[in-house]
Amino acid sequence: MTTATPPTRLPRNSASPGIDWRDQAACNNEDPELFFPTAFTQGWKTQTKQAKAVCASCPVRTTCLEWALETGQHSGVWGGMSAGERRGLRRPRETQQERCLRMQPWIEKQLAAGVMQKTIAAQLHVDPVLISKVIRMFQEERAAGVMEEVKAA
Ligand code: SF4
Repeated sequence: MTTATPPTRLPRNSASPGIDWRDQAACNNEDPELFFPTAFTQGWKTQTKQAKAVCASCPVRTTCLEWALETGQHSGVWGGMSAGERRGLRRPRETQQERCLRMQPWIEKQLAAGVMQKTIAAQLHVDPVLISKVIRMFQEERAAGVMEEVKAA
């Protein structure tokens, strides 16, 4: 679920009446728009900084961040983190090797089209030495597959 309003504007959980973490939010007295800078427009960096400064003094920052991650808030500053920073938390960084393996069909298509290995490496932002190893591995896999087919025939 995504929302364009800060947590203080969301309906309270009626199953647990009483004090809600949102009641303690430091952003309660701030303009909600402050927490939704539009990326790549003039001033978005400054606005993000200002929003984060409010979060820095917020007593429920951790709870807010957990809530944003659990409910999949894809935009806005929550718990002192921008949307991009939260994406980094959600998904562990892919290693260069994992990226190569995931991109195997694309790499093989590039090779078949005559694209140089160093160009492929640059496009994938991986080490050229690694791309050579991975390509060799793909070729060995293919050769092993051919051998299996020959044996089975
Ligand atoms: S951490 Fe930031 S967005 Fe979350 S409740 Fe506190 S001030 Fe509001």
